[in-house]
Amino acid sequence: MSVAGPPQDARAPSGGSAVHEVTSVGATYVGRFAPSPTGPLHPGSLVAALASWLDARAHGGRWLVRIEDVDTPRCVPGAAETILQQLADCSLVPDEAPVWQSQRASLYQAALDRLVNEGRAYPCACSRKDIERALAAQGRPHERHAELVYPGTCRSGVGGRAPRAWRLRVEPGLVRWQDRRLGPQQQDVEGEVGDFVLKRADGLWAYQLAVVVDDAQQGITQVVRGEDLADNTARQILLQRALRLPTPGYLHTPLVLGVNGEKLSKQNGAHAVPTYEPLRVLNRAARMLGLTEQAGTVAQALAAWQAQWRASYNLPRD
Ligand code: GLU
Repeated sequence: MSVAGPPQDARAPSGGSAVHEVTSVGATYVGRFAPSPTGPLHPGSLVAALASWLDARAHGGRWLVRIEDVDTPRCVPGAAETILQQLADCSLVPDEAPVWQSQRASLYQAALDRLVNEGRAYPCACSRKDIERALAAQGRPHERHAELVYPGTCRSGVGGRAPRAWRLRVEPGLVRWQDRRLGPQQQDVEGEVGDFVLKRADGLWAYQLAVVVDDAQQGITQVVRGEDLADNTARQILLQRALRLPTPGYLHTPLVLGVNGEKLSKQNGAHAVPTYEPLRVLNRAARMLGLTEQAGTVAQALAAWQAQWRASYNLPRD
């Protein structure tokens, strides 16, 4: 397909009756694109941005952008501004000024305090080596590159050691949810991840806590993001439940693979998308989303998106 750049007021596209039909369904829709400013927008992140924009607009909703700059060692100076400019080049313009996670520490602290006061979070004194040793002692040696499952060493206290991080106490049981594209999902977070980190040993807020607090505080009703993030969803749902926050809908978009068929990285094609050619890059992203048949206008792209994803919008969330 070819997608013309969104019109000035993309919330009121002309043509495409299906667009208007669904608008009333999603009057309370709030979506978001939440890039980490570790570099400019690459082809994969543009697909996630376009998908979240299309889903919000196709449901008559609002679309927000949040700069996820809590992991400061990974942030690249100027990358956030570049991303916002690239989005603007593609006419993907948020309905409110973007929020920056680096300015929201008090919200994350309040959430952590609440979890600690309710006995849901606890301090942890373990280093990575300590965790590896504890797992080995339990006869569960950890394979290189595999995620370390926290064995619960500090659940009942740090034993006089200095606290380093804060963790969520995870209860046993499967977490189930419906992904609008991937279908029914489940994860045994206690068995596969263990009590996970909310505030890191280096004092930085963990992605899981920041994203859950922000999604709720911004009233996000649908999370549309890349499939590489799908395995965070169960942890985020547990955290939403612990904080008594609503669970949004989830739709994880197809990953853009590098030339060697592997996940995009700086080595295999995660170059900055050349947004000085917005139509070309938007068309390529639209093709990645399977919007292949309709041509021409934003209204048609929205109608194509709706035809593909409309049924999934009303899926039960668990
Ligand atoms: N900041 C995350 C990233 O850029 C995305 C977080 C999310 O969409 O939940 O990978």
